[in-house]
Amino acid sequence: MKIICIGQNYKKHIEELNSDFPTEPVWFLKPDSSILRNNKDFYLPEFSENLQYELEVIFRVCRLGKHIQAKFAHRYYDAVGLGIDFTARDLQMKCKEKGLPWEIAKSFDGSAAISEFIPLEEFKGQKDFKFTLQKNDTVVQSGNTSDMLFTIDAIIEYVSKFVTLKIGDVIYTGTPSGVGKLAVGDRLVAELEGRELINMKIK
Ligand code: ZN
Repeated sequence: MKIICIGQNYKKHIEELNSDFPTEPVWFLKPDSSILRNNKDFYLPEFSENLQYELEVIFRVCRLGKHIQAKFAHRYYDAVGLGIDFTARDLQMKCKEKGLPWEIAKSFDGSAAISEFIPLEEFKGQKDFKFTLQKNDTVVQSGNTSDMLFTIDAIIEYVSKFVTLKIGDVIYTGTPSGVGKLAVGDRLVAELEGRELINMKIK
């Protein structure tokens, strides 16, 4: 399986990183070796001095497809959850300055925390989801997918022009503002629509 991640999908996050507004979805991949499940501890890697959290709503792909039109995209995902896109911001900034790809900052082992998935049918057609991240009992990120520049359906239409979506693939839809640095001993707790899906410790 693969993990498709969207960057720069919330206005205030683009502003906090001083990035330009994209005209098409910006996406990158994480390998399956980056997955961290079951609220396992995240170990700060030795290669970064500025390891940051990015809480994101994630969707699970349930159908094989290519060249999917946005109006049919809803048939290609069946469950929603939360993910943390752990990012070595210092390495990412160096790559961006040089115009290089960011893989070393985004794709390392453990960089993709994935919660349990909730079947979308439990939400009875609800389109938008609110979500929050607490770091050590303080809310540091809160978002609503209604603020995304590109909807999940638009993301699927765009990405599937280039790559085939396969059953079990996961799509990260981008982070809202409030990203920040992690330290040993931090605890991250994330909720989707009031349901706690992530509760993990930083070591
Ligand atoms: Zn991200």
